[in-house]
Amino acid sequence: MALTTTKEMFKKAYEGGYAIGAFNVDNIDVMQGVLAGAAGARSPVIVAFSEGALKFIHPAYVRAAAEAAAKECDIPIAIHLDHGKSPELCRACVDNGFTSVMIDASAQEFEQNIALTKEVVAYAHDRGVVVEGELGAIAGIEDDINVDDKYGRFTHPDDVIEFVSRTGIDSLAIAIGTAHGAYKFKPGQKPQLRFDILEEIQQKLPGFPLVLHGASSVPRDRLDIFNKYGGQMPEAIGIPEEMLRRAASMAVCKINVGTDIRVCYFGELRRRLAENPSKFDGRTFLGPARDAVAEMVADKITNVMGSAGKA
Ligand SMILES: [Zn+2]
Repeated sequence: MALTTTKEMFKKAYEGGYAIGAFNVDNIDVMQGVLAGAAGARSPVIVAFSEGALKFIHPAYVRAAAEAAAKECDIPIAIHLDHGKSPELCRACVDNGFTSVMIDASAQEFEQNIALTKEVVAYAHDRGVVVEGELGAIAGIEDDINVDDKYGRFTHPDDVIEFVSRTGIDSLAIAIGTAHGAYKFKPGQKPQLRFDILEEIQQKLPGFPLVLHGASSVPRDRLDIFNKYGGQMPEAIGIPEEMLRRAASMAVCKINVGTDIRVCYFGELRRRLAENPSKFDGRTFLGPARDAVAEMVADKITNVMGSAGKA
């Protein structure tokens, strides 16, 4: 199967009340794990690369690996740039075979965000590539305490129609309480997402795919392995899976998972290293770590995204 954009994936996901997982990878091993998990669950999948990951792997290797993967796996695969901060980077990825790019100008003023996003959309659409934009601050609940407005720093439903229609984007990342990283909430704080805001946005943009960033759950079993074998992330708290499942059943068509991939991969890697001190064959350590990623991805696809069997 050839690499594909997210257009068809999102259309079916919206209609079917599920979401497509976008999994962040930092190396080719992890990408193979993600694809094995998705292929096993017969699900479409988005492999996401941050700017840092691209630099680390090198764009030429990313492209070659993605094309090889598309030939290997009989599922729809989109290759996506996560948080492209500049039109230059987005253009470079479009030119390098990516099927989807995100322009994240959400830190800019509204008009500037529109201008930059529009510029990327024009370039990408001409070349058959889809674009994700972002509106609102994807941070944590705790950052929102002193704001009077009921919408706080979250995506304001009044802005979305104008943003989407003026930019021409294909999907929109919204801020409703998810956060990047492993520490999404303070200890003792109850995780919550603003489903009231999601509902309002969904009503304003019927049929339009929304995206959740910072949506790792930090599964306890994976975190325990990570910590047991020398890791130190004791208080990490993620978004409960049932909340993500609920969002996936609504207008959210793409759910990003980065932290969980890392916790899973490096937890298993730490365990294998600790348990095999006399070995030095990389496959002894990296193989099981890759398999652990595949297993977790299949589990998320089945129990969180709801996209198993939709390939
Ligand atoms: Zn993000």
